[in-house]
Amino acid sequence: MMDAAPIRAFSDNYIWVIPGERDPARVAIVDPGDATPVLAALDTEGWSLGAILVTHHHADHCGGVRALRSRFPVPVIGPAGETIPERTQGVAAGDRVELEELGLAFEVIDIPGHTRGHVAFYGHGAVFCGDTLFSAGCGRLFEGTAEQMNRSLGLLRRLPGETRVYCGHEYTQSNLRFALTVEPGNSASREYLEKVQNLRSSGRPTLPSTMALEIAVNPFLRCREPTVQKSAEQHAGRTLDTEVEVFATIRRWKDGFN
Ligand SMILES: [Zn+2]
Repeated sequence: MMDAAPIRAFSDNYIWVIPGERDPARVAIVDPGDATPVLAALDTEGWSLGAILVTHHHADHCGGVRALRSRFPVPVIGPAGETIPERTQGVAAGDRVELEELGLAFEVIDIPGHTRGHVAFYGHGAVFCGDTLFSAGCGRLFEGTAEQMNRSLGLLRRLPGETRVYCGHEYTQSNLRFALTVEPGNSASREYLEKVQNLRSSGRPTLPSTMALEIAVNPFLRCREPTVQKSAEQHAGRTLDTEVEVFATIRRWKDGFN
């Protein structure tokens, strides 16, 4: 199973480094919003860059592509439906990304909602899901609808429970405060919060998560649970008839949550 390493960028972004299967020092990176910390990490760790994967068009995920490409003429793989700087291969649902030189291959999953063309890369027991699924939370709906986002999360939810979940930001602790507001009785979330607090107080990342853990703690993957539905109905002050309505209600609730 893959073990990707984080490079920190901006205040809470992670640029993930995927070791090649042939030579772990030859790497692919995911979502380089900033070239500077990537160049520093390549230098310190003795990695060489073999490919760049991009999940969506936001600058904090692809703002470093141009500067990296000017140094390393590597493939840049990103969503076909979005404008990604220096993209060499546009991908969409069902495509397979073959990075032969690195011995890596990924399946592309379309996960619109945060942005219209957002994709995830799934392979080697891991999923790189950008700003769609966060640990204990999900991305904001900037370009898509609640219905799209709920469907996208449903696709990720179907991945094997042991799948490692590599998200684009370190939001876990604040997401869990919200998750526990929606489901105060969720003991898995309480246990997880304790673990997350320990990791954060020693400055360590809480990621990757796993899909099984997310299904247990993430309210946005739990819209069919009676506890989540009831809580959403209380917040909305009315009956919610569909999973999408429950999802839309807790997404709006989270938007105004501090
Ligand atoms: Zn984003």
